[in-house]
Amino acid sequence: MEKTFDSKLPDTGTSIFAVMSGLARREGAINLSQGFPDFDIDPDLIDLVYKYMKKGYNQYAPMQGVPVLREAIARKIHRIYGRMPSADDEITVTAGATQALFNAITALVRPGDEVIVFEPAYDSYVPVIRLNGGVPVYVRLTKPDFRIDWARVEQLVNERTRLIIVNTPNNPGGYVFSDEDWQHLQRITARTGTLVLSDEVYEHIIFDGLQHRSLLNYPTLYARGIAVFSFGKTFHATGWKTGYTVAPPHLTAELRKVHQFNVFAVNTPVQYALAEYLEDPARYENLPDFYQEKRDYFINGLKGSRWKPVPTHGTYFIGLDYSDISPLDEFDFAVKLTREYKVASIPFSSFYHDGYNQHLLRFCFAKKRETLDKALAVLQKI
Ligand code: PMP
Ligand code: GLN
Repeated sequence: MEKTFDSKLPDTGTSIFAVMSGLARREGAINLSQGFPDFDIDPDLIDLVYKYMKKGYNQYAPMQGVPVLREAIARKIHRIYGRMPSADDEITVTAGATQALFNAITALVRPGDEVIVFEPAYDSYVPVIRLNGGVPVYVRLTKPDFRIDWARVEQLVNERTRLIIVNTPNNPGGYVFSDEDWQHLQRITARTGTLVLSDEVYEHIIFDGLQHRSLLNYPTLYARGIAVFSFGKTFHATGWKTGYTVAPPHLTAELRKVHQFNVFAVNTPVQYALAEYLEDPARYENLPDFYQEKRDYFINGLKGSRWKPVPTHGTYFIGLDYSDISPLDEFDFAVKLTREYKVASIPFSSFYHDGYNQHLLRFCFAKKRETLDKALAVLQKI
C-alpha cells in the first residue's frame, strides 16, 4: 500500500481567499470576497514605476530595501507616530505584509514556543507558526465588537509564551485598538518579556474620527516588537506585493537573516517609485474619508434588507449577519450565495481554527460605486 505523504501542514488546505476568488471567477459572480480594490491605482504611481524602469533601475535592489524608500518610510513614521526609526537598522522592505509576517514569525518562534493568536485571524499566521514548530494558543473574539478580554490573555501568558500577534484595525472584525488595549498588552508582556508582532496593514483605513495607534507609539513595547505594513492596502495596489517591517535593530537583524534567504530583495523600480510617491502625505491621508464614504454607502444600501451589518471601524471589510436569512453554516452559505446569487464573500469561520460559526459573512467594500450597486441590488432581494 502506498504510504500517505507525511505533510508538515496536515490540517492546512488552500487559502480561503484563493478558494472564493476562484469560485467567483468560475461562477461569474461579483467578487466581494478577497480584499482588493476593483478601481485603478493613481496613474502618477504607474508613471513613476515606468520612469524608474526606463532609467535602468531593473537589477537587484539592496537586500534590506533601497535606501531612498527606507528613508521615506522613516520620515512617514516620524510624521505620523512621532518616532524616527533608523532607515539602516530598523526598516526592511518586504514582498508584501505576508512575507513580512513570515520573516517575523520564522525569525522569532522556536520549536515548542507558544504564540497567542486572536481569532478571527489572518490566515497566514498559524501555518507559519506551525512550520516553525510553535504552538498556537487561541483567544476567540466574537461579534458584534470583537473586543479583547485582557484578563483572559493575562491567564494565558506564561514563560513559554514567545510571541503575541495583534492586528489593528482588525481584518475581518473591524475592531480598532484603543490606548487602553495597548496599555494592557504592555503590562502583560512586561512580566514575561513576551515579544509582540503587530499587523498594521490597515493603518490608514480607519473611520469615525478614530486614530490608528501603532506599536510604534509605545516605546517600551516597541523595544520587543515588530510592526508590519503594506503598500498594497495603502496605495490600492495589492498586486504589487510590497510592504515593510519596522523593528528595533536587534530584531531587525534577526528578521533580515530570514528575509535574505526567502526573497533576498524586492522589486526595484516599484521601490523607487514608492519612495518618490510617499513625498506627498495627502496620498495616504485622504484614505479614511475615501473608504468611510464607501462603507457608509454600502451600509445605507442594505437598509430594509434582512442582512444585519456588524460595526466596522477600520479595514475595507464589513461583516453581515445573515441569521434572519438562512440556518446554513457560513462556508455553505457563502458558496450558495456565490453560485445562486452571484455575489462572493468570505465566511468568518475561515478565520477561526475550529471553524467557529456565528452566521457572519465578510464583504469587501473597496469597490467602484457600480460594483457596490450591483451587489446591493442582489443582497436586497435575499
Ligand atoms: N495582514 C492582514 C490582516 C491582511 O488582511 C493582509 C492582506 N490582505 C495581509 C496581512 C497581507 O498583506 P499583503 O497583501 O501586503 O501581503
Ligand atoms: N488580505 C486579503 C483579505 O483578507 C487577501 C490576502 C490574500 O489573498 N492572501 O482578503
